[in-house]
Amino acid sequence: MTTTLDSGPSDDLGVAGARRRGAELERSIRERPGTFRALTGDRPTGRLHLGHYFGTLQNRVRLQNMGVEMMVLVADYQVLTDRDVADRLTERVEDLVLDYLAAGLDPGRATIFTHSAVPALNQLLLPFLSLVSVAELGRNPTVKDEIAHSRQSAVSGLMFTYPVHQAADILFCKAGIVPVGQDQLPHLEVARVIARRFNNRYGTPSNPVFPEPEALLSAAPLLLGTDGAKMSKSRGNAVALAATADETARLIRGAKTDAERHITYDPIARPEVSSLVLLAALCLGRDPHEVAAGIGGRGAAALKALVTDAINDHFAPLRARRAELAGDRGHVRRVLRDGNARAAAVAAATLAEVRTAMGVLY
Ligand code: ATP
Ligand code: MG
Repeated sequence: MTTTLDSGPSDDLGVAGARRRGAELERSIRERPGTFRALTGDRPTGRLHLGHYFGTLQNRVRLQNMGVEMMVLVADYQVLTDRDVADRLTERVEDLVLDYLAAGLDPGRATIFTHSAVPALNQLLLPFLSLVSVAELGRNPTVKDEIAHSRQSAVSGLMFTYPVHQAADILFCKAGIVPVGQDQLPHLEVARVIARRFNNRYGTPSNPVFPEPEALLSAAPLLLGTDGAKMSKSRGNAVALAATADETARLIRGAKTDAERHITYDPIARPEVSSLVLLAALCLGRDPHEVAAGIGGRGAAALKALVTDAINDHFAPLRARRAELAGDRGHVRRVLRDGNARAAAVAAATLAEVRTAMGVLY
């Protein structure tokens, strides 16, 4: 069967669709956790922040602890999507691994690995690129947003095509679950489309090569930073997981609010204030409306004091664990070496299957 490039994405795009499919997925995971594999990752562009934690990291640890096989990618090649040089890469990669371990990812159960150490994964990029059109790549809203914020004067081919590289990240290990933040939904759709087109072109209906992966969103799929825009490592608006209590207090004190004194939770009309309310609610395990009502007319200063204490209390154990782990860089390197070896074996098996399906196994 031939597939044309215009057999486009499924209709059910966006957060609502992802949430509905995610709820169904959660039910299946609870019944048979051992039959699922999840993959997700982060760029080693700086320390992980609260957006990562509540957007995806907490979900990763939860899935791991339920018995789902977890693959966690340190996306080192993708550092170069929006900058010319990958600065202090070894240090940043190790810092990321420290954040993972401190948050509760267990290298005995989770495979933590880097792009650059798994050549067979990267080779999947070539056949996958043949399955998407330039026009489709140009329409990706997350890539458009990242290009707008990029420090580079020209858009590189890597920036333009990185969602296809991410499809290789997900499909090389045939992950069915991808716990991510909202900005990743367009990329997940690219991965689903590529899986479908590859299967149609090279597989047989009874024996598809790739499963179609599903995004798993958290309760906070788009946490805002101190300036009211998406909290992001690259935008200087983030509270790092590993920040000190004083740094946290300073950052939250400087967070943008609005002119209305009475605190309410209204993410559409009052994104900045609501984001602070949500942060406190997530840390305290409470409902954001209740948290806002508790502050009421006491205003933004009281809200910021509450948020600061809530963050510092919630993350104190993680921060202490991280400081302890940071003393043993040798352990971090061993975690990566073992993870890279495991990921490379999985990638080699998938690449052999892909080459067989394509008829290029000599
Ligand atoms: P950079 O600015 O370097 O791109 P980032 O902060 O956007 O960094 P990524 O490494 O691109 O972080 O994203 C890693 C994962 O964390 C993705 O699944 C992404 O959806 C999620 N994530 C990042 N920022 C947030 C946020 N503010 N809220 C919820 N999830 C987030
Ligand atoms: Mg990003």
